[in-house]
Amino acid sequence: MTKPAPQGPATIPATPIPDGYVAGREILIPAGHGRSVRVSAGEILQIVDVRGQQVTDVMAWRLADPDEYLSPGHTVSCLTHLVPREGEEIFSNHRRPILRIRRDTVGRHDLIVPCCDPERYERDYGLTDHRSCLGNIREGLELAGETWEPRAELAWNVFMNNQLQPDGAILTVEPPHPAGSYIEFDVLDDLGVVASSCPQDLTACNGYVITEMAFRVLRPAV
Ligand SMILES: [Zn+2]
Repeated sequence: MTKPAPQGPATIPATPIPDGYVAGREILIPAGHGRSVRVSAGEILQIVDVRGQQVTDVMAWRLADPDEYLSPGHTVSCLTHLVPREGEEIFSNHRRPILRIRRDTVGRHDLIVPCCDPERYERDYGLTDHRSCLGNIREGLELAGETWEPRAELAWNVFMNNQLQPDGAILTVEPPHPAGSYIEFDVLDDLGVVASSCPQDLTACNGYVITEMAFRVLRPAV
């Protein structure tokens, strides 16, 4: 499988709007960069893959107490399986549910490995100037004037097609999901959410071509 090179300007694909909600704000995450959004309890958050086969690394903090944040490890522990499913909750480091998956058209995620960081590219490839998800998330926070402290182990690797092998090895497989794939959450708490279009172009993680992602926020119709 070969991911095609992007053609033309990015357009965020349409996604279904559930009954009782109206379209709100949209934020395009440029290829290989990071952006953030604040969402409120009762809203719906969609993360949309603009061109397909792209992974996005996501961190989130509670606005009421940024010492409490989305914890991939606590989520795996609470769910007792490695990949969250539709209808399941995503947990904070205090095991509080902060998001619930309403819809997930991909169903592949990694909550085990940290996001890519400058040390990953230097240690494994000898590169000191490669973009990273951790750097992108810092960028997304700075652009929005947010001050939460990102760490690579706080990232949920959304749509990452890591597959556990019988011998325990973790194999990164090129993701097959098409443009317009999305994951949709009920927002259960007021949150700051930051995402990186993963710039890893040296493994199959993103099909060797890095492309845009997007946030779409839906508000309850009143
Ligand atoms: Zn990455």
